[in-house]
Amino acid sequence: MELTLKSPQEVSTVAVVGGGVIGGGWVLHYLRMGHDVYAYDPFPAARERIQQMVDDTWSLMVDLGLRAGASRDRLRIVDSLEEAVRHADVVQEAVPEVPELKADVFAEIDRYAPAHTVILTSTSGISMTTIQSKCEHPERTAVGHPFNPPYLVPLVEILGGDRTAPETVQWAVDFYRLNDKDPIVLEREVPAFIASRLQEAMWREALHMIAAGEATVEMIDISIRQGPGLRWAITGPMMNFHLAGGAGGIEHVLDHFGPTLKEPWTRLVAPELTDELRQLVIEGCERESGGRPVAELVAERDRTLVAILRARDEMERQLSDARSGDQG
Ligand code: NAD
Repeated sequence: MELTLKSPQEVSTVAVVGGGVIGGGWVLHYLRMGHDVYAYDPFPAARERIQQMVDDTWSLMVDLGLRAGASRDRLRIVDSLEEAVRHADVVQEAVPEVPELKADVFAEIDRYAPAHTVILTSTSGISMTTIQSKCEHPERTAVGHPFNPPYLVPLVEILGGDRTAPETVQWAVDFYRLNDKDPIVLEREVPAFIASRLQEAMWREALHMIAAGEATVEMIDISIRQGPGLRWAITGPMMNFHLAGGAGGIEHVLDHFGPTLKEPWTRLVAPELTDELRQLVIEGCERESGGRPVAELVAERDRTLVAILRARDEMERQLSDARSGDQG
């Protein structure tokens, strides 16, 4: 099929398929961006949760700032996939992380969506080639992998599968940029992309330490919250090491620490998720959260995240102004 995509500026209607944590989050984001949003989930309880999530979080969206015309009244929660996607300029899929299911849902979206519609998956690591395998028009499909919550965290990882058209990848980049996101494009399929793969590596180490009785759930969280997590939001892990090398920068760090890191880099394989480890992790999280409901913890995380993003943006602006002043 010849690709006849609308320009990303012309997008007015977005469909979100799957209404869980990520689908609900996308709904909020696209409403805030001023679109008409159709949402579909086969389960009535999930459809109710989407509305609840929008009602609970809308004041935060208002506080963040709404695009012209944005309104939560522009949400339509529908009870068929066809109804959700048949008017959409772009579809953001967010169904469970099961390859067969995603491939079937994509085939169905592909059947009902207009020819100009781009179809994006939120998958955290399933190959796009697999997800598009049953589509008649796979050229208009790509990965648009968000981070939770999609209405606040800017990163989206974009990549195509074997049959994705390069224009679709570029379209997705332009579309996400227009919609307040900070996309990165992977030139080829990489298992778990970039950020999830880094998260997975850290989670693997954490579970090993909990299983071996070397650290508790709380110690793991404190170690990142009060340690490297603070720096990562400013420098990322690579520039962080560059700064850790003093005047010698990353070169000094690699020469200094490289040889001793060979052993930890190669020490561990996947942890065995035994019943005991599972229980330790669950009990640890319950202890740490003091038994407070997840919705309350999410609301607190969101408010703090907004404050952090604002503080970082403001500091970056001030530092950039100061640099231009120095040069001027
Ligand atoms: P979730 O379990 O919270 O939600 C999945 C939703 O999909 C449920 O509401 C379920 O009812 C619905 N669903 C099931 N079958 C469906 C179908 N045939 N059609 C439409 N909806 C259907 O899961 P989630 O955490 O929102 O994850 C969704 C996707 O987003 C996954 O691919 C996941 O890897 C990805 N993702 C998750 C996170 C995260 O932190 N949770 C982050 C980034 C990406």
